[in-house]
Amino acid sequence: MRVLGLLGGMSWESSIEYERTINELVRSALGGASSADLIIRSFNFADIERLQESGRWTEAGGLLGSEAKKLEVAGAEAIVLCTNTMHAVSDVIESMISVPLIHIADPTGEAIRSRGLSTVGLLGTRYTMEHEFYADRLRKNWNLDVKVPDAADRASVHRVIYDELIQGIVSSDSRKMYLDVIERLVADGAQGIIAGCTEIELLISQSDLDVPYFPTARVHAEAAAAFALS
Ligand code: GLU
Repeated sequence: MRVLGLLGGMSWESSIEYERTINELVRSALGGASSADLIIRSFNFADIERLQESGRWTEAGGLLGSEAKKLEVAGAEAIVLCTNTMHAVSDVIESMISVPLIHIADPTGEAIRSRGLSTVGLLGTRYTMEHEFYADRLRKNWNLDVKVPDAADRASVHRVIYDELIQGIVSSDSRKMYLDVIERLVADGAQGIIAGCTEIELLISQSDLDVPYFPTARVHAEAAAAFALS
């Protein structure tokens, strides 16, 4: 089995789900006492949030890249960055390591395409919804048309992530608000919805929706487990 290096803590509320999913998949593939071979670097998210808020993306990339390199030196054979938002600096990280970075948008794009969809709605932090790094990759690599909520809805979706979900707060009012935003995206032509923030799947499940749902932490963790087992 190959060793995975996880860059987590962004936030830990979703990183622990990565760890759980990867371990469960390895156990079901190999059986017995088998579990995943992981090296985990869990950040203090307050430090990362400060860098995001002040737009210091290059500095954040340097920090994540140098920690990814440490995971590689410690034996990681691939890096898993357990957040959508920080893939804004995936190029910087990749330039600092010589093992692959399993990019979260690629297994997501593949899952969407395998359902035969061409237009999807994207929910995430305002960085993921408004900066081009994420939708661009889905367009270029997977030929997808990506719709995002309007400005007011983007602000509400972002606020719930930082003020609630990363702090372990799961509220039914916020679930209702998200479902309203999703309804508007579907009315705008979205055939499926990407939970493009790894905490959103703590709030919304497929059973809440009538359209296909792509929970990125789950999809990314499945791709990571497949790499480990390959
Ligand atoms: N986990 C989140 C994401 O997937 C948000 C926290 C962060 O900004 O890293 O984007």
